[in-house]
Amino acid sequence: MSQIDNTWFSEVMAADGSAFSLKIKRKLHEEQTQYQFLEVYETETFGNLMVLDGSNMVTSRENFLYHEMLSHVPLFTHPNPKRVAIIGGGDCGTLREVLKHKGVEEVFQIDIDEAVTRASEKYFPELCESNNDPRAKLMWIDGIKWIQDAPKGSLDVIIVDSTDPVGPAVGLFAEDFYKACFDALGDDGVLVGQSESPLFHTASIIKQMYVDLRSAGFIEVNTFPFPQPIYPTGWWSCTVAIKSGAMQNFREQDARNAGFETLYYTADLHKGALVMPPFMQKILKG
Ligand code: SAM
Repeated sequence: MSQIDNTWFSEVMAADGSAFSLKIKRKLHEEQTQYQFLEVYETETFGNLMVLDGSNMVTSRENFLYHEMLSHVPLFTHPNPKRVAIIGGGDCGTLREVLKHKGVEEVFQIDIDEAVTRASEKYFPELCESNNDPRAKLMWIDGIKWIQDAPKGSLDVIIVDSTDPVGPAVGLFAEDFYKACFDALGDDGVLVGQSESPLFHTASIIKQMYVDLRSAGFIEVNTFPFPQPIYPTGWWSCTVAIKSGAMQNFREQDARNAGFETLYYTADLHKGALVMPPFMQKILKG
């Protein structure tokens, strides 16, 4: 059995009887922001680690898995995305991926907590390398209110890159919010949200998302699982909802000829991820 002492950071999921630990070199930053307790550590093998309220958010080493799936799956699902909103995502990794799409004209990043972005600029500069792109508009306000106030039909893609459904993020997993997103999206609109662990949360959080997204008016909902070592179970997901068309008619050729580098996402991987494991299908579509 391995020795866990104060040179390790552990995120303990007590209710699920599991934990994930990283060997720490030192603590780089600690701050009680207006909204959450923010910590940054230097780890032995995962680069820097950002933690919010005790939950792992990002490491330098493996954030590409999450940020690429949350960005490229919805952007290649929409026929011609030009205006994109990222709700949450204050570490700016999703913003960087979205801006790789040349056809995108405007990206609004709305995170409630400016301290997350300031910490990311300092400890994850690679994630913030596109923050000065003229197409990027960064705001630090409540994303729920921003979506409610957005002009109808004004957005092509909405990406909910939020914390777990606790604290200020609870309302980002709610039917009212999905209805406001539906209204803010154009006819071909695509909504995606991070949707927790397929193993722990398919029968609870993800199933409820399906119910709420469908009653908000979306015609098709699909969950895309992907590996994510630092999140509970090491297996995470994003759930995509569309207003028209069919999820499997994504822009496969454009994804093949994307013209930018990805480390995880490919057109084939996108295709493969459309096939949900049978246990999920049974719970979500059965
Ligand atoms: N990858 C992460 C995960 O799945 O754990 C999420 C990372 S991102 C840092 C999450 C962000 O959501 C945080 O910066 C937090 O401030 C933001 N957030 C939470 N509730 C919000 C709200 N109502 N409006 C806007 N941003 C919100």
